[in-house]
Amino acid sequence: MEDTLVTDIVPDQQDSTKGNVSKSSLEEESGSAVQADVQQEEQQGPEYFNFKCVLCGFSVRARYGPMKAGILSYKHDVYYLRSLNQQIDRVKTKKKNDYKKFAIIGAKCYSCHRDVCNRVQCSFFYKENYCLDCIMQKRKEFPEKVIQVSCFARAFPQPRLRLLTIMSAVTARAVSSVISKCQPLRSCMPLAKSLKIEWDDGYQAEFPYCWLRDATSKRPALVHIDVHMKPEQVEVERSRESLQVQWPSYLYLSYSSSFLRDSALHSSEANSLHQIHTHGSEQTDNAAKHVLNGKLFLSTHQTPIAESLVMGQCEWNSSAQEPGTLWPHLQTVPSLVIIDAMETGSTMQPALITLIDTMKALEAMEQSHPEEFAFLKQCELEYIEGPFRALHPIYELDDEGRQIISATFNNRTRSSAITTNSLEKLYLSLQKLGRVCAEYSLQIPLFPGRRLIVDNTKAMIGAPAQKERRLLLRLLS
Ligand SMILES: [Zn+2]
Ligand SMILES: [Zn+2]
Repeated sequence: MEDTLVTDIVPDQQDSTKGNVSKSSLEEESGSAVQADVQQEEQQGPEYFNFKCVLCGFSVRARYGPMKAGILSYKHDVYYLRSLNQQIDRVKTKKKNDYKKFAIIGAKCYSCHRDVCNRVQCSFFYKENYCLDCIMQKRKEFPEKVIQVSCFARAFPQPRLRLLTIMSAVTARAVSSVISKCQPLRSCMPLAKSLKIEWDDGYQAEFPYCWLRDATSKRPALVHIDVHMKPEQVEVERSRESLQVQWPSYLYLSYSSSFLRDSALHSSEANSLHQIHTHGSEQTDNAAKHVLNGKLFLSTHQTPIAESLVMGQCEWNSSAQEPGTLWPHLQTVPSLVIIDAMETGSTMQPALITLIDTMKALEAMEQSHPEEFAFLKQCELEYIEGPFRALHPIYELDDEGRQIISATFNNRTRSSAITTNSLEKLYLSLQKLGRVCAEYSLQIPLFPGRRLIVDNTKAMIGAPAQKERRLLLRLLS
C-alpha cells in the first residue's frame, strides 16, 4: 500500500512548505472510520435520485419518497436529505423519519411534473406544489396574492424573501406597487471610487467600483482583483431598467435596476448581520477528524461508500475550477471531500487536482499582512445555492483566539450581497489572501482508480483545465 501511495503523489520537493505538507500526510493511512462506514448497513429508505431544479439549476443527490413524521406530513412524495445541520447519526435510532433529521429540498410541480426546489423564487405551495413557470402561465387560476408574491420573488435573484409567503395580501400589494413604481433608474454619476445612482422615487445609493466589478458572472479570480479599477463608460439604458457599464479591455456588463436596489437596501443591514450571527469557535467532532487525524489529505484505493453517508456529489470535467471550500452554502460545511479519479479514454494520464493549504496560507498572511488578516476575521461572506443560504467568516479561531481551526472560502460561489461597510478593504484583503494562497498551492496527480480524501475545513480544492478528465467528488459531513 505504501508503495502505491508514494508513486501517486509526487510533491515538488524543492519547495520546503510543499514537501512538509505531503510528507506529514503520507506518514500513515488511517481510513478506519471510512472502513467502518462502508460496513455500516445502508439505512432503510427510498432510493436516491439526482435532483435538479428546472428553474434555478440547483442539484443534489436526494431521496425521493413520502415524508410523514411527527406533526409534519406531506401530501405527495418529496425530495429530501439527511438534515444538513445535524451530525451523521452513527447509531440507528428506532424512530424512522424523525422530521428534525431531514431537510426537504423540493418536489414535483403538480401541473408540469418537473422537479423544482422549495425556494420562493422557484415554487409556491397553493393547495398543491407549483413551479413558478406554471403559476405565471396560468395566472387566472390563482388568487391575486399568489401572483403578486410570485412576481415579487422573481424580481429578486436572492432567496432573502422566504417570509413573503406568509405576508398578508395588503402587504404584498404595497410591496409590489413600491417595486414597480421605483424600478426606473433616473441617473448615474461616476465619482472617484464609486458610482452614484438615483431612482425615479428619489432613492439614492453609492456603489464602490470594486463591488460592481465583482458582483457579476464575470467575477475576476482573487489574484486579479484590482481595487483601483474604474469603468470606462457608464450609462442608464433607454428602458431605464438597467445600467450598462463598460470595463477596461472592452468588457460590457449590465446591472438590472432591481438587483442594484435590492443590494442597496440590504447593505444597510450589513452591520446588524454581525450581531445576529455570532459564531462560536466550536470545533465539532467531525468526520474529517476521525478519518484524516489532522492531516490535510490522504490518498487511498477506491472502496465503496455507503450512500446514506453522502450528503452530495458532483462531477468535474475538463474545465478549470478555482480552488475553494466545497458546499459553503450550508451552515455546517461538510468536513470531508472524497475525490475519485474516473476512467477516461487515456488511462495513462493522471487527473490533476489543486489543493491549497489554507491553514498555512492564513498563518503566513497573519505575518505578512496583519491588518488585512484581522479584517477578514470579522467579515462574513454569504453563499447561496438553491434553497440554501449561509454566512461564514473566512476563518475561525480556537477559544483562546490564537490558532486557526477552520477556514471557509469559495470565490466562485460567494454571493454579491454586501455584508460589510468597508468594501474596498474587503477586496484588498481578498486580493492579498489570493496571493498568499497561490504560494501554498499543491498540484496532486491522481491516477484513474485512485482516491483522494481531503479535509474541506482546512484545504481549498480546485483543478486546472485538463483534457479528458473526470473527477467524482462526494461530500461527507
Ligand atoms: Zn430552484
Ligand atoms: Zn410546473
